Amino acid sequence: MTAAQEVLKGLDAANTWQEELYVHLHKHPELPMQEVETAAEITRRLESYGYAVQQIGGGVVGVLENGEGPTVLFRADIDALPVEENTGLPYRSEVPGVMHACGHDLHITAGLGAASLLAESKDAWSGTYIALFQPGEETAAGAKSMVADGLVDKVPRPDVALGQHVLTAPQSGKVGTIAGPMLSTAASIKVTVYGKGSHGSMPHLGIDPVVLASSIVVRLQGIVAREISPFKFAVVTVGSLQAGTKANIIPDRAVLQLNIRAYDLGVRDHLLASIERIVKAECEASASPQPPEIEVYDFYPLTDNDPEVTAKVTAAFVEVLGADRVVQMDPITASEDFSTIPDAFGIPYSYWGFGVAFWPANIPAWRRVNIIGSADAVGLSLFCVVGAQKALDFGLMAAPAIILGAVTAVGGGTIRDMLIGDVPSVLTSGLYAVPALVGAAIAVATVRDEVLGVPGAVLAASVCFAIRMIGVRFKLNAPVPPSWGKDDQRR
Ligand code: ZN
Repeated sequence: MTAAQEVLKGLDAANTWQEELYVHLHKHPELPMQEVETAAEITRRLESYGYAVQQIGGGVVGVLENGEGPTVLFRADIDALPVEENTGLPYRSEVPGVMHACGHDLHITAGLGAASLLAESKDAWSGTYIALFQPGEETAAGAKSMVADGLVDKVPRPDVALGQHVLTAPQSGKVGTIAGPMLSTAASIKVTVYGKGSHGSMPHLGIDPVVLASSIVVRLQGIVAREISPFKFAVVTVGSLQAGTKANIIPDRAVLQLNIRAYDLGVRDHLLASIERIVKAECEASASPQPPEIEVYDFYPLTDNDPEVTAKVTAAFVEVLGADRVVQMDPITASEDFSTIPDAFGIPYSYWGFGVAFWPANIPAWRRVNIIGSADAVGLSLFCVVGAQKALDFGLMAAPAIILGAVTAVGGGTIRDMLIGDVPSVLTSGLYAVPALVGAAIAVATVRDEVLGVPGAVLAASVCFAIRMIGVRFKLNAPVPPSWGKDDQRR
């Protein structure tokens, strides 16, 4: 048995209390830097596992020393978002306007699970494990706050730091790792530009900050398009532009709020410098009476995974989960403050994602039965047999009877689709008319002259049904629940 298997022996038992804990945390979310109850719960549990626990900068750190060996820090973030929960779940948030919408409740649950399993299996490993629970990730304040409160001096220096986040891709049950830049560096920039107020009827007496701000917005688009290499990733978004209060008054100022993203610190610095240059130049061009104010805030560092650590982590995942559940991730344009912690220690790190989104492949086969598609196939198969039979009764020859059987079946479906305002299946499908034709052909061959009678009709209907269900199963034309299939393409 490997060390990892030894540590994970208690996982099934842990899952029981983990589920309860997750539900509890989800019901009681706390906003960034206000995670008082959450931190208390984490502290209580870590202490019960035998960790030396400290509260640092609003977060909680537990240290488990277990002899010689490497020191590993695992970080989980613990804050929730100012979002009203409308999921209708039985364990939905009990705090109005606050929700664990980013899945940090799961991060805490997993972090405590790892802490407890490692404490239970001290014979299986040696070294020092640091379980770090960080507040305020959503505002980029928490990691900074822990570092400012002396994190580096208060715990043993780790050799490596690890972290993770729930994601919608990869699919649930899988983890995704990536060496190099994984999450972008980000910053928000508040720009205030000044004009000169005037009545809207007398623009010549004022300096219009609305026109000035608009020119800035347009000019900013040129940074990514014209200044950054096409091989580099960069985003400049103007998320807010506010000026004035009335239609006939020229205001005296405008405020823009920008957000930037990059996978490269050089690119980030270029974006910031260009924004400053453009804002100043446009103010100059407008004869702005006062220099602009530029404030950079909500700064997120780059998450740049160490290749060696990532290779090790990936190999461990493959060993425990199997190769088919470990995927190579693409970089994500979102951002995280996790790397502030390893950067403060000057140590390498790896941050990975694990899937939690609904995924059809993880649903038991019996729940994957497509009821609408099956009912449609039953109708199609019965109609093709009845239609063919009727045509024979009228004394038609085999070929016209087959065509009439197929037309009866397809026509029935088409009329139905048109009545419910949908595009007729036959027009969107490669496998709608075919089963009807095959079914009608079998019906004619077997039913005619009572060669096979009822068994023949059943055979014809079954074959038609089977072919049609192949179309449904492989979504060749099937009406499928809206959430199916979309995730396939997003990867
Ligand atoms: Zn998050």
